Amino acid sequence: MNLPPCLSVRNGHLHIGRHDTVTLAARFGTPLYVTDEDRVRARYREVHAAFSSRYDRVRVLYAAKANGNPAILRALADEGSGADVFSAGELILALEAGMDPDRLLFNGSSKSPADLALAVEKGVRVSVDSLDELQSLDRIAGEAGETVEIAFRVNPALEVPTHPKIATGLRTSKFGIPASDILAAYRAALGCEHVRPAGIHCHIGSQILEVEPFARAISVMIDLAARLTDLGVRLRFIDLGGGLGIPYRRGTDPEPSFSDYASAVVPVFTEGVEEAGISPELWVEPGRYIVADSTILITGVNSVKEAHRRFVNVDAGFNLLIRPVMYGAYHGVVVANKADQAPAHRYTIAGPICETGDLLAEDRDLPAIARGDLIVVLDTGAYGFAMSSQYNGRPRCAEVLVRGSDAALMRRGETMDDLIAATERPPWQARR
Ligand SMILES: *Cc1c(COP(=O)(O)O)cnc(C)c1O
Repeated sequence: MNLPPCLSVRNGHLHIGRHDTVTLAARFGTPLYVTDEDRVRARYREVHAAFSSRYDRVRVLYAAKANGNPAILRALADEGSGADVFSAGELILALEAGMDPDRLLFNGSSKSPADLALAVEKGVRVSVDSLDELQSLDRIAGEAGETVEIAFRVNPALEVPTHPKIATGLRTSKFGIPASDILAAYRAALGCEHVRPAGIHCHIGSQILEVEPFARAISVMIDLAARLTDLGVRLRFIDLGGGLGIPYRRGTDPEPSFSDYASAVVPVFTEGVEEAGISPELWVEPGRYIVADSTILITGVNSVKEAHRRFVNVDAGFNLLIRPVMYGAYHGVVVANKADQAPAHRYTIAGPICETGDLLAEDRDLPAIARGDLIVVLDTGAYGFAMSSQYNGRPRCAEVLVRGSDAALMRRGETMDDLIAATERPPWQARR
């Protein structure tokens, strides 16, 4: 069996780090997300080392939207990570986790005046996505008597090999300013009193399993950087965004490492900046690569049914993991309490949500499954809990963090009370 590095099989049971998943399920209940903190830290170090061994002025900004649990952000802050934040909420979470405002970049294609005011107040750089936003930011910073450093988000118009919903640098994408308009945007910024252009930013997409598109992207960025330098912009950083994927189909998918990524990108970068006579920092914003394989979703089997297919009805659905439904994404699955048994049947793992499409995994050859067994869904650390909802009246599940021999909640499971906690009773609806 091809397992993520933090998982192993011992005594027939799947383990995460030193912890038996069957014991964790008994202690904390199911469904349950479990994350290995050591793995998250190791991945951050791998990313940082891959770049800093090739270029000495590097920053890693973890993309907080992949997994914004404060405990994850704290572990990464501890490692020295900054963050790419895409909302006021993520900005606050990153600051609360102890991240230095100087190491944050506030991204987003549609920021409100309140979002921009928060960035100004907290001293966080902004990646500006339109000329309209530039005008708003200049005014808001001016009213606060501050000057904000910005980058523009460039749309490099690159085709990338990934799911269309997560290709963000296509010519037709809603993100960024077309490369052809970018010089005019910087010219406008140079004319602003309370905004100082300091960097340039792009993000070409997510779950990309080749490094070549990143080399193309950096080459577009370098080209623009040289022209911006001629224009009089002093670029302190070039931010290449995130996007390197992980092999969800272990053993089949390509498995590019951050070292592969850095060897494709850094030589193009260093040669380009040297030629342009500048020495900006190189920033990257990995999300998925850092957290995806650190986490599992443990889900309990409510019933097994032979119908059109052999359905295994479990207690986690797309309310907790939407990737299979939203992107047709593949996640490996393991029967946690029968992890050393041979496959017996072909099963489809179905969630409890009232939607035909609520399937976590289809047509998998697994050991004979019975009521009460535990199914573990692999590689769920990125865009897993982060995209969860209470759809269908389902409280979100707990999240557990393990480190060494310790295991503890990093988020309690929601209760039925949490389903109504934020609701109000309109006054004309008499209390019954
Ligand atoms: C989502 C996002 C990332 C992270 O993408 P991954 O594919 O998870 O690495 C980085 N930068 C920006 C601007 C993003 O929107």
